[in-house]
Amino acid sequence: MSGETRTILPGATIGVLGGGQLGRMLAHAGNRLGYRFVTLDPTPDSPCGQTAAQIVASYDNQEAARELASRSDVITYEFENVDAEVAAMLATESYVPQGSTLLYTTQHRLREKRAVEAAGVRVAPYAEIVSLESLREAAASLGLPAVLKTATGGYDGKGQWVLRKDDELEQAWNEASQAGTQLVLEKFIVFEKEISVIAARSPSGEVRTFAPAENIHIHNILHLSIVPARIADSVRSEAEKLAVSIAETLGVVGLIAVELFLTADGQLYVNELAPRPHNSGHYTMEACRTSQFEQHVRAICNLPLGDPGLLTPVVMANILGEHMEPLLAWMAGKDEVAEKLGVEVKVHLYGKAEAKHKRKMGHLNVLAPNVDAALEWISQSNIWRV
Ligand code: AMP
Repeated sequence: MSGETRTILPGATIGVLGGGQLGRMLAHAGNRLGYRFVTLDPTPDSPCGQTAAQIVASYDNQEAARELASRSDVITYEFENVDAEVAAMLATESYVPQGSTLLYTTQHRLREKRAVEAAGVRVAPYAEIVSLESLREAAASLGLPAVLKTATGGYDGKGQWVLRKDDELEQAWNEASQAGTQLVLEKFIVFEKEISVIAARSPSGEVRTFAPAENIHIHNILHLSIVPARIADSVRSEAEKLAVSIAETLGVVGLIAVELFLTADGQLYVNELAPRPHNSGHYTMEACRTSQFEQHVRAICNLPLGDPGLLTPVVMANILGEHMEPLLAWMAGKDEVAEKLGVEVKVHLYGKAEAKHKRKMGHLNVLAPNVDAALEWISQSNIWRV
């Protein structure tokens, strides 16, 4: 179906590969526009399955994927590691406006870096690693510290080894080479901030970007997204410009999230891309005229994109398993701190049965007169003390 653009009108069914929270919030936004949803996910009663029809099967189950295709007018995905054969089959049996090339590119760090460079955007200096010898050579030429990463399958800092001294190379190689995938060594970027920009592009070529978010991670998991990011206006417009360039060069349809490092001297380096709604874009749900989820639905259905304009300063804070108890205690009570600070806290929970440690269970959008007030509310609340 390559090259063909269809306009998918409300009443149609959107199929979502993956039934996690991103699919759930996509379905919420799309339902409001009058679309129906069906999801494929191995876990019964998945976050998306609670709000859409669900086919319970593994992601690489060809028969289940064919069923998804037959029940959907258009198909999208909420994670990148879609099996290549399944993606190709879905593209012939149904309509996948995002195509398979973008997935192919973003599934692999080396391909992704080359694509970002082709868009005229900087990435951290890197080298492909095929042996301990090539790791030694790359460490010498890039300099330490550096980060050894698996080219596929890594997320939230998994599949990464930070190398500070030469005598750490051999052990890192021994561990990393077990992963059974290609490896890449990246120069360690001493960044001042991590920011991200989400862009949406429709098949007709319309591109809109959301305000850049300033992201704070704890143990490699996103903790806060602060918007507006506390960065210079010139950096803000540069970040938006490079996201547009990446969306156009890669022929993105739907959303592309661009994660960036910002150095003290104002340089931006792309760390990673994600061709889907992104955790750092959850702030858009109440803080923007159009949320990232509605924008994604609009883009894949070839509707005009919505206005992504920011309505209010906001800080998004993730709720992990260990934060659930204090969150529920807070929800049941009266919040005088919020009143005093003039903030409004919007709760989003994903309907996951088990509150496992470090598992993303939900998030809060703290709408405030300024980001300092939102950060003050977060620091005074007891939710993240554990
Ligand atoms: P990633 O899985 O590539 O998003 O990396 C997870 C986290 O590791 C990032 O959010 C950074 O905090 C850190 N990190 C990854 N690559 C680099 C790098 N080249 N330089 C400095 N920090 C990095």
